[in-house]
Amino acid sequence: MSNALSRRDFLKLAGVVSGSVAFPSFLRVLPPSRAAQAGKKNVVIIVFDAFSAYNISLYGYGRETTPNITRLAERAIVYHNHFAAGNYTPPGTASLLTGVYPWTHRVFQSHRPVIDSFATRSIFHAFNDCYRIAYSHSPLVTTFFDQFQSVLDDYIPIQKLYLTDDGLVQILFSSDGDISSLSWERIIKKKVNGGYSYSLFLSDIYKNHRSAQIMDVLQSFPRGLPSINGDNYFVLEQAIDFLSDQLNIIPQPFLGYFHLIPPHSPYRTQQDFFDRFKNDGFQPVDKPKDIFGEKGRTPEFLLEMRKQYDEYILYLDREFGRFFKILDDSGLLKNTWLILTSDHGELFERGILGHGNLSLFQPVIRIPLLIFEPGRNNRMDVYTPTSAVDVLPTLLQLIGGQPADWSEGAVLPPFANTPPDRNIYALQAPFNNPKAHLTKASVMLVKGRYKLTYYFGYADLKSGKKRMELYDLEADPEELNDLYVTQPKLGMELLDELKTKLAEVNKPFRHSHSNSSFPGTPSMRSVANKDL
Ligand SMILES: [Zn+2]
Repeated sequence: MSNALSRRDFLKLAGVVSGSVAFPSFLRVLPPSRAAQAGKKNVVIIVFDAFSAYNISLYGYGRETTPNITRLAERAIVYHNHFAAGNYTPPGTASLLTGVYPWTHRVFQSHRPVIDSFATRSIFHAFNDCYRIAYSHSPLVTTFFDQFQSVLDDYIPIQKLYLTDDGLVQILFSSDGDISSLSWERIIKKKVNGGYSYSLFLSDIYKNHRSAQIMDVLQSFPRGLPSINGDNYFVLEQAIDFLSDQLNIIPQPFLGYFHLIPPHSPYRTQQDFFDRFKNDGFQPVDKPKDIFGEKGRTPEFLLEMRKQYDEYILYLDREFGRFFKILDDSGLLKNTWLILTSDHGELFERGILGHGNLSLFQPVIRIPLLIFEPGRNNRMDVYTPTSAVDVLPTLLQLIGGQPADWSEGAVLPPFANTPPDRNIYALQAPFNNPKAHLTKASVMLVKGRYKLTYYFGYADLKSGKKRMELYDLEADPEELNDLYVTQPKLGMELLDELKTKLAEVNKPFRHSHSNSSFPGTPSMRSVANKDL
């Protein structure tokens, strides 16, 4: 850790923040029967948001972005072809939490809960004899925690690990979070990029108050403090310290789900890693501009963004290493399954930046998965394609829980003999009404070494508003050689298989022509550029 920012500073800072706002305790007293589950193993899932497998040196990236994760992988099962189920936070996370694809949980847009029939089928419900603790930096994820909170023993409020907070607003009006936050913003906050508030006087006081709150730590972050949605600042060290402390004091067995924002944009690394990759000569593979490419995303701009993202990964890599060491030193890892993964990846190619775009290229859909097994001291590499929906059924088997018969995933190898050519899917459908058939969507099918992507219903698409691509991920991992035209037989077979699947998942929903006027549908630009 840097000299400018010691662990003690963080604890002090956390104390100051906690002292100014009284956080309600969500801790509940456990019934004795649950406390008596000694001997069962714990599970901790740590999700780094928008963490692409493509940019991870453990998986072969050209920059050494993950020295700590690579070192620790010597004690893990490493999944090399692991896929998110969606390409931005809400669908990707909902699939991890429920073990089903987005076409089943129906989270296509932000701040929407999972469909009613899955409101009691989350990982938190499935781990019903564990102490369940959850935290997320991202408000897109707390939507699900809110939905599942009746089975959360310790739901840590999102503001707990922000350096600044919106006063009492979200606490006093926790059941009306959206409305109260909006009112608060209208009255007090000035928009980060211009805009106004009703009270210029209060907003200046508020601005100064916020500046004072973050001044101590700002000097350690040359690109500015890490934040989400504008000025909700946080530092990763504080989250790692707080969450690892919690794991050492809560009853066992427990399930911990921690969703941390780095390396999600804005890419603001800590000073120890600032400009680490400057002028290192790294040249990404040259790829053609995509039809979903965005204006202003020149190769030079994307190269700079990629560098900042890669430097941000170095920071989370160090902090994950520290998290691992705290758990290891305390003896927790002897009886805890530790899972490292993400909700989706990130793109810096083809004129596309970030995620939430309509495309499903590998960097935005292939994510890390490492399972640290208690007592394991060697590395195992798994190359079979796997999915985020497999995590829930696998963990349930590992702790001896009731199988989640609703899950569309499978128990992962090496814990079961998963067929290597079973189908893996992903879906992005931000313009589609969740209650209606899929008529505007991006869908992926991975079968063995082949990946078919099928885009349909978007106005931007020519030729019947459809687009199909087929890649051989083994021979062509950069997806430069579209086989859909040169291998039409294989392409058609896989497309038929995917269409059959789509017809099956559409069945419970109505066929509707209302998608074109679907209320609340974001524009393509807002999907692509918003802080997702
Ligand atoms: Zn995300």
